[in-house]
Amino acid sequence: MNESILRKYAKLAVRSGVNVQKGQPLVITASVRDADFTEYCVEEAYKAGASVVNVKWNDEVISHMDYEYQDTETLKIIPDWFIDRVRYEHDNKACYLHIESETPGFMSDIDQEKLTARRLVYMEKMKPYRAYTMNNIGQWSIVALPNPKWAKKLFPDLAEDKAVEALWKAILTAVRVREDNDPVAEWEAHDKELADHCRILNDHQFDKLHFESETGTDLYVGLVKDHIWCGGIGETPEGICFNPNMPTEEVFCMPDRNRVDGKVVASKPLSYNGKVIEDFWFEFKDGAVVDYGAGKSEEALKQLLDTDEGSKHLGEVALISYDSPISNMNILFFNTLFDENASCHLALGRCYAENIKGGYDMTEEDILAAGGNQSLNHEDFMFGTRGMKVTGIKADGSTVEIFRNGNFVM
Ligand code: ZN
Ligand code: ZN
Repeated sequence: MNESILRKYAKLAVRSGVNVQKGQPLVITASVRDADFTEYCVEEAYKAGASVVNVKWNDEVISHMDYEYQDTETLKIIPDWFIDRVRYEHDNKACYLHIESETPGFMSDIDQEKLTARRLVYMEKMKPYRAYTMNNIGQWSIVALPNPKWAKKLFPDLAEDKAVEALWKAILTAVRVREDNDPVAEWEAHDKELADHCRILNDHQFDKLHFESETGTDLYVGLVKDHIWCGGIGETPEGICFNPNMPTEEVFCMPDRNRVDGKVVASKPLSYNGKVIEDFWFEFKDGAVVDYGAGKSEEALKQLLDTDEGSKHLGEVALISYDSPISNMNILFFNTLFDENASCHLALGRCYAENIKGGYDMTEEDILAAGGNQSLNHEDFMFGTRGMKVTGIKADGSTVEIFRNGNFVM
């Protein structure tokens, strides 16, 4: 990709994405493959007034070797200094830019138990620090860059360089970066449209949503009382706006963890903990998954559900029109950042405090009591389809059509 486009994308990530403020530290996580783009981001951040920019480099190949050669006991060791560093960043009000470039299924040959063992220790140790990003205390943003293996998975018939080019094109389309436009301005307009959808849904205060689709989904999702639909822009308590996900097309809300009933059939595979889970479904009763199945990697799905009690309940429900820029490309990205924005989705696990009135001031117990879910996990899976029908049902039983043939009609 040429330098001017890369710089434009870097500027979008730093300005509209994480929106680093004057005098604020920025932490970037990036793959060693993406040094050029990362350098542009660092430069853009300093130009925006960042006090210090720290880059945490990662390397998929080395991570794979770690899991391959270390035994489980060694993998479970996460030293205190690792957590101390995170605490130091939070104490200094740092913001986070994650430049993602994951190869789907890269860990698929690694023993699931090893992956889960480390993940559990990591999540447990990080638990006190999760709120910083989950509750938007500090700004954070995720953008993605292509890599050859990821590109070949999407475009297996193309030569490697052509495949990377095609994935670049898809990513830039999704994040609205073109040779001739001002993506920062386009994002402002896009964020406004999402805000309008949220406003209408918030005014209705539906008691529950009814989802029906041609794939067999027939699901009622209760919403918590005083819920707030959110989308696009996130905001810190100080009022700093940022875009947590680039791209983003969703408006999302807090399901009632005890009022979900019926069957949901996933419409896209789920890349989870290095595995790709395909053709899966869940049956819910009184909010909990009571039955499930998968055509591929059912074991990984079981690990996900068995993580803790909250992993069997929903923490997010999100609406996305089938005719969105990402969906219209009709590409399966094998990456949640993109695929979740192509389709209505649900998340198993923890809810977002921003989705309920006064949520930031509530304890985990308060949120649980209000019907919000708590868990170490938050895993999105897609179930939106071309034929998706969504009906809003109010407490008095009256109904409002929200989606017809996969798209917003309200
Ligand atoms: Zn979502
Ligand atoms: Zn989610």
